[in-house]
Amino acid sequence: MVTTSRPLWENHSPAHICPFDQACSYLEWAGKELKLDPGLLEILSHPRKVVTVSIPVKMDNGEVRVLAGHRVQHSDILGPYKGGIRYHPAVTLREVSALAMLMTWKCALLGIPYGGAKGGIPIDPKQYSVAELERISRRYISELIKDIGPSVDIPAPDMGTSAREMAWMMDTYSVNVGHAVPGVVTGKPLSVGGSLGREMATGRGVMIIVREALADQGKSLADVKIAIQGFGNVGGAAAELLYQAGAKIIAVSSGAGGVYAETGLDIPALKAYAAQNRRSVLGFPQAIPISNADLLILPCDVLIPAALENQITEENVHQIQAQMIAEAANGPVTLEANRVLEASGVTVLPDILANAGGVVVSYLEWVQGLSYLFWDEERVNREMEHLMVNAYRHVIQQAQTRRVNLRLAAYTLGVGRVAQALTDRGLYP
Ligand code: GLU
Repeated sequence: MVTTSRPLWENHSPAHICPFDQACSYLEWAGKELKLDPGLLEILSHPRKVVTVSIPVKMDNGEVRVLAGHRVQHSDILGPYKGGIRYHPAVTLREVSALAMLMTWKCALLGIPYGGAKGGIPIDPKQYSVAELERISRRYISELIKDIGPSVDIPAPDMGTSAREMAWMMDTYSVNVGHAVPGVVTGKPLSVGGSLGREMATGRGVMIIVREALADQGKSLADVKIAIQGFGNVGGAAAELLYQAGAKIIAVSSGAGGVYAETGLDIPALKAYAAQNRRSVLGFPQAIPISNADLLILPCDVLIPAALENQITEENVHQIQAQMIAEAANGPVTLEANRVLEASGVTVLPDILANAGGVVVSYLEWVQGLSYLFWDEERVNREMEHLMVNAYRHVIQQAQTRRVNLRLAAYTLGVGRVAQALTDRGLYP
């Protein structure tokens, strides 16, 4: 029996805010500040290549489903396309296109020689067996075989994917081309050329940026109460590292809801609990349950949305109590909400800076692989710290020179570098 899950080119976003329109507004905003040539802006507002493939998959019960798989390559002006692959039910082509554009600015801002891309399959991975996920991942990547490669487009994990999927994808690509190509993906397991420190990298980057921003305000991590929305690859790692650095983590949440303890949660105990509880924090003793929406408006010093986009909008922005927001997710604060926060003096550490730790260590993994020389974890963390702190300092400097907020400062740096490269390379033919 054949069942189709949805039209392959479904294009609408479930949220009322179209993520691609929002990404374009950020670009226009930066373009206006930089007084970019309209032609240049026009080029940068379109992805260079958009691919949607059908993924026919045989389920364990024999049923055949056809899924859609997207890969959007926004820009390769600065180097190979780079960006994660997301498995999440809310994935749409528009969302993937927006995230691909964000990757372009993120890589440029961090000064790593990559363009931007993103991929995604609209599925809830929890509803599939490991064997089904393997077949999905392998078929998806084999459909994209001509579009990716270690100097073409280098996928990595994102929401719903991890080192496991990267190993399947690396293997599928390698078998298809006839020899091992570890550099085709990053975020791989250590056994096939992954890097130490990659798994915690996005969380570590969040910790570094929050630590630097607090230091600029004369505070340290030990002085603050933090609420984190999301307890996955990013939120979980950030919680652990911030906790180790002395911060009080008063609330965290997973998809179905969160837990709150005014005096601070025992993060190692909570991690162990979630590992036994299908990655959910619900029911953790010595904490009270809290919804994802209520977590955002808790009284705390630092709020870290580390889940989906569009979490802080015009609807709830007036209730936000945190004085600092670190965007560990991509696009969790809308442009309008950002304006309100800025007017009330809240520091918003923008996504393309705050969550760049993952792609930075992806870059370090790729460099180690290409040079056949692998570093210890201390070296990886040191190199990463250097790139993150450097980017943070540039953003602060840019904000001061241009008298703009941190988001616009980060965007003008990222967009400006890509625009400069495009100008220098020229338009072919
Ligand atoms: N998915 C991560 C991001 O959004 C990492 C991407 C990568 O390592 O290429 O930045």
